[in-house]
This record gives sequence, C-alpha cells and structure tokens, in this order.
Amino acid sequence: MTADRTTAAPAQNSPAADVPVIEIRDLHKAYGQLEVLKGVDLRAPKGNVISLIGSSGSGKSTLLRCCNLLEDSQQGEILFEGEAVHWKGTGLNRHPADKAQVLRIRTNLSMVFQQFNLWSHLTILQNVMEAPVTVLKRDPKEVEEKARHYLAKVGIADKADAWPAMLSGGQQQRAAIARALCMEPRALLFDEPTSALDPELEQEVVKVIKALAEEGRTMIIVTHDMKMANDVSDHVIFLHQGRIEEQGAPADLFGNPQTERLRGFLSATM
Ligand code: ADP
Ligand code: MG
Repeated sequence: MTADRTTAAPAQNSPAADVPVIEIRDLHKAYGQLEVLKGVDLRAPKGNVISLIGSSGSGKSTLLRCCNLLEDSQQGEILFEGEAVHWKGTGLNRHPADKAQVLRIRTNLSMVFQQFNLWSHLTILQNVMEAPVTVLKRDPKEVEEKARHYLAKVGIADKADAWPAMLSGGQQQRAAIARALCMEPRALLFDEPTSALDPELEQEVVKVIKALAEEGRTMIIVTHDMKMANDVSDHVIFLHQGRIEEQGAPADLFGNPQTERLRGFLSATM
C-alpha cells in the first residue's frame, strides 16, 4: 500500500482548516439506569489520529458509536465539521431530529468493526460497492473503479471476486477498510480493528492503518494495541468508567503517565 494524497478526503466544500471533523462536548450516555459516558469531550481535527484506550467496559465503543449517531446520547453536543447535531426530546428520549443530517454524518464517518461485518452473500467487490451505490446513489461504473482502487490500496486487488468466507481474517478486515474508504468519508472510525485477528494477521491490518495515518486521514481508533496507538496517534484518550482519566500526546501518555489508573492499565497491557 502506498500513500496517495490525491484520494484523501475530498477538498471541495471543506470547512475552515481549524474546524474539527468531529467535536464532542460534555457527552452523557446511559443505557437505561446504567450511565456509560459521564461528560466526555473529544476533538478530532482534520488529519489527526485520535486513539481511545481503556479497560473493557470503560465506554470506548459507546463513545465511537455516539460520534456517528449509531447511539443516541442524553446530554451534550456533537458537531460534525462545525455543524451541531439537532436534537428533539430530552434525557432518555433525546434523539437526532433531522434524518438527512444523520445520514450525512453517518456516511461521512465510516466505521470499521472488530468483526469485519462483511456481507457473506456478496463478493468482496460487491461488499465495497454496496453502500456508495445503494446509499449514496453513485454511478455503479464509477464506484467499481473506486472500489478496485481501494482494494488495491489495501493489497487485495486479486480478491475482488472472492467471497468473504474464502479470505483470512486479515484480508477480510482489509476488505472492510476498503469498503469504508469507498464511501470517501471525512473520517474513519475503527473499533478494535485488530482484536479478532491472530497476531500474525494483525500486522497486515496495522500496516494499512499506519499508511492511512501517513496520508493524513482523520481517524478515531479504539484499540488494545498500545504499540499501534503510540505509533499512529496525534492524541490518545484514556477512558475509565465513562470519564476521560488522562489524555495527551502518545509520548507523554505512554512515556510519562500521570495517574495511578493509567499506570496500572499500561502495566497490565504492555
Ligand atoms: P468498551 O468498548 O470500552 O469495552 P462499551 O462502550 O462497549 O465499552 O460498554 C460500556 C458499558 O456499557 C459496559 O458496561 C457495557 O456493558 C454497557 N453497554 C454497552 N452496550 C450496551 C447496550 N447496548 N445495552 C446495555 N448496556 C450496554
Ligand atoms: Mg468495545
């Protein structure tokens, strides 16, 4: 995979350079009585890579899913390129008010899941083409060209006509990344992209993520892989029980953790 700046997030209609792609202010999220996010702030400036780390159950996936409105939240603001999400209702009855806005945000923040979530009844190429054609109503011929481009970019051009079940986990995850890229989103959201992979397959996915970071993609990555977080991130957020316990540049966070909790977490995981 080679860095290719010409295919990074489209330049037209871009907001001012200093407006973050995603900004979250004082976000609160509960599942019924269970408060999972207790006032979280997050800022993903264009071209930055933000990593979310923390123990299982600390709220990382929930925060990521709130970013692209896969989850509702009860309080706080979510801004996409400076545009605030419109809400209706309050508390547990708060939901996004504008369907078109939700679609715009969700299609511009493409998610890559731990379990790949490829459609088993579609070929790899069809998987990559599916959403741009059906959701964005793009011309199938053009989408196919792009899909093949992104499959080549993640190193599996030769798998276009294969079924997902024929691929290794690492290849399936690279196909899922190509699928996310084919949406030409403003940012990519990764939820533990390497956690379901055997160690020897993990590195092929890490390599792809590193190349995406180098070409200036905006990404938020939930990960257990502290080495990857250290290597690719501009900013690392350590979540603990739904709050940001500590955050900063990777060199500071990993090299000089300030809180007992982060020190404990790092010594248990590294
Ligand atoms: P992490 O990704 O850091 O492991 P999650 O965001 O998945 O954490 O979960 C945070 C907390 O929210 C956990 O206590 C989890 O059990 C709970 N949780 C997550 N999803 C749901 C759900 N759909 N319904 C109820 N509780 C949930
Ligand atoms: Mg999770």
